[in-house]
Amino acid sequence: PVRVRFCPSPTGNPHVGLVRTALFNWAFARHHQGTLVFRIEDTDAARDSEESYEQLLDSMRWLGLDWDEGPEVGGPHAPYRQSQRMDLYKDVAAKLLDAGYAYHCYCTTEELDARRDAARAAGRPSGYDGHCRDLSDAEKAAYEAGGRTSIVRFRMPDEAITFTDLVRGDITVQPENVPDYGIVRANGAPLYTLVNPVDDALMEITHVLRGEDLLSSTPRQIALYRALIELGVAKEIPAFGHLPYVMGEGNKKLSKRDPQASLNLYRERGFLPEGLLNYLSLLGWSIAEDRDIFSRDELVAAFDIADVNANPARFDLKKCEHINAEHLRAMDVKAFTEACGPWLKAPFAPWAPEAFDAERFAEIAPHAQTRVTVLSDITANVDFLFLDEPVEDEASWNKAMKEGSDDLLVTARAELIAADWNADALKAAVLAAGEKHGLKLGKAQAPVRVAVTGRTVGLPLFESLEILGRERTIARIDAALA
Ligand code: GLU
Repeated sequence: PVRVRFCPSPTGNPHVGLVRTALFNWAFARHHQGTLVFRIEDTDAARDSEESYEQLLDSMRWLGLDWDEGPEVGGPHAPYRQSQRMDLYKDVAAKLLDAGYAYHCYCTTEELDARRDAARAAGRPSGYDGHCRDLSDAEKAAYEAGGRTSIVRFRMPDEAITFTDLVRGDITVQPENVPDYGIVRANGAPLYTLVNPVDDALMEITHVLRGEDLLSSTPRQIALYRALIELGVAKEIPAFGHLPYVMGEGNKKLSKRDPQASLNLYRERGFLPEGLLNYLSLLGWSIAEDRDIFSRDELVAAFDIADVNANPARFDLKKCEHINAEHLRAMDVKAFTEACGPWLKAPFAPWAPEAFDAERFAEIAPHAQTRVTVLSDITANVDFLFLDEPVEDEASWNKAMKEGSDDLLVTARAELIAADWNADALKAAVLAAGEKHGLKLGKAQAPVRVAVTGRTVGLPLFESLEILGRERTIARIDAALA
């Protein structure tokens, strides 16, 4: 059975790269009817925060990426927060030391630096040189008597490590490129290098799918796994698959600190989880050559790690918005209307709740649904319905209210007053007014739109006027003419 894991560290705000990793693990688990383990890698007390932990859980829930084992749901390998598993790591570190897979290293930072610089200058490999690999008991005792502390280092085997990456194919790493590495700090705190593979082993993870930035830790983890198997701690080495980098603006790696990378930004702008997940799944994967809109279920049915592309993926905000818009259009009107809720309240809509009218909104919602890209677009698109006076967007006024537009408005006013109050008749009225001034519909409706809604762009105009009503429409044209 497939067992995958999503194991973020609770530092900072969740970002799109992290979500892409979570999504691919989730889709892989669901596709194979496997288990998604959600593990919190919170062993770095200085950087981890409870707030970030809460946000991670909240983000996963918002995205609908459910987990089978982990915080709040529990499971056979609980606890799922590494900060609560410290005894397990101590125990494994002791076993590794006892069996000689790891050793105490007494080198000071200064000594390490000096030897590394010398090795570089001489053109030799500059990683850890194995200085403390085979210290005698007397040498150790002397270091300790001298007041030195030690870290625990894992002893890498003197042989190449080969594995088949699920995304990149066969990878071989020569021993000189993977020196012995620290697994426990001098103060006894276990490092990522130990706790991550140990938990993967204890939690019986079968597939490790994670970002390309972690590719270099894989040979070390495989060597550690082999030792863990010898010690009876692990059963089998998992398969590894490294997901491609996500590139942002200027073809630079999208960094966590990049504002474009923050998941919260997408939530606040009113992306649908379905839309965002749809787009993020395309960062390194595709469902078919000619298709980029699909549902979560379709993703699960089609997802295959073998189809993931090793080349860096480019984050394209326009495409992300386009895909979200398509998901908005596909919603049932009632669901769309409800989804708009938060953006029709403070702080997004300062005029709510006093001026808000749910019935009116229900009338305009189907028209809004054909136009908005993200849900937050709704606020400015419908405020003309609820405010006593439209927001006066200066740029729009300057653009639409040109010479002759007053004359047009006067004619349009007369036509509108005489018209039946439905969208078709209102369109005919504005068309007729335009004809009298030699203007096409587009040009004729611009001043009307600005007078009534305050802006040059917005929802389908004649439906908007129909819903706003005759009295308020005429009053706004009068105000614009005054
Ligand atoms: N906690 C690690 C990170 O967030 C997990 C890396 C891994 O998937 O192995 O980078």
